[in-house]
Amino acid sequence: MNICVCVKQVPDTAEIRIDPVTHTLIRAGVPSIVNPFDTYALEAAVRLKEKLGGRVVVISMGPPQAAEAIRSCLAVGADEGYLISGRKFGGSDTLATSYILSEAIKAVEKRENLRFDLIVAGKQAVDGDTAQVAPEIAEHLHLPQVTYALDIVEQNGELRIKRDCHSGYDILSVPLPAVVTVVRLPYEPRYPSIGPWRESKKRTIPVLSEADLETIDLSRCGLSGSPTKVKKSYTPVRDKHGTIFSKVPAEQAAEKVASMLSEAGII
Ligand SMILES: Cc1cc2nc3c(=O)[nH]c(=O)nc-3n(C[C@H](O)[C@H](O)[C@H](O)COP(=O)(O)OP(=O)(O)OC[C@H]3O[C@@H](n4cnc5c(N)ncnc54)[C@H](O)[C@@H]3O)c2cc1C
Repeated sequence: MNICVCVKQVPDTAEIRIDPVTHTLIRAGVPSIVNPFDTYALEAAVRLKEKLGGRVVVISMGPPQAAEAIRSCLAVGADEGYLISGRKFGGSDTLATSYILSEAIKAVEKRENLRFDLIVAGKQAVDGDTAQVAPEIAEHLHLPQVTYALDIVEQNGELRIKRDCHSGYDILSVPLPAVVTVVRLPYEPRYPSIGPWRESKKRTIPVLSEADLETIDLSRCGLSGSPTKVKKSYTPVRDKHGTIFSKVPAEQAAEKVASMLSEAGII
């Protein structure tokens, strides 16, 4: 089974800062990691490859430093990794990002001389947080999709997906090729051992830019090709000053809280 894993490099911080002028993430001085959900997507892919054979290819769109994220995937079982990076791609919103990634998937299939049976991604990126990119990739490529997978297993030639739903889980089977997004798996992503980790540091990561994506329509890429326009962005100021009603009986305190919330138009 040939599997493509979409991996995003994200800041290793809970404090996302936005540039007030460009409205983009401030990455300078912030260490980066592979988006945690994507590490589960990769682990699921590597386990399927170990059982069924085939190749696992990682793709990541981002600036040159995203090559490090790809190397860390090579260290834990991915066979190849491509960085999708080009000047025309900067400022892309989720629709443009997913379009570029879908074009990149087609280009990688051609270069690797294979067809992907499965495209796996994380449920969402912990910085952008939209959970839109992978479902949009499925739409661009006209593929069926299953989101929120808790586990992906192969059974008698069929792919079975345990899908998180509010009240429990569904077990679905999906025709391939398909796109699947992963929440968390019942097992943890593996850590690299020293040999593969060292090897991954020596690997050259192929970079695909706009010139390498043969069928791409550049009017659908970058800031100008993005239908989302960010009008304003700000970091919310945390106001920790609460009101404490400590010297009144609980019932009266509850009434006061209710009337305050009502005055504020919250209830
Ligand atoms: C108007 C606008 C302008 C923007 N400009 C910029 C900018 O200049 N620079 C910038 O860095 N960001 C920019 N962004 C943010 C950028 O669009 C998102 O980071 C990107 O589309 C991914 O969305 P997300 O983080 O919500 O991913 P999600 O949809 O939450 O991610 C889901 C999964 O999709 C996969 N995935 C997501 N992104 C990638 C990727 N890049 N490569 C491989 N796999 C991926 C991963 O598996 C991930 O777990 C902009 C957004 C908007 C709306």
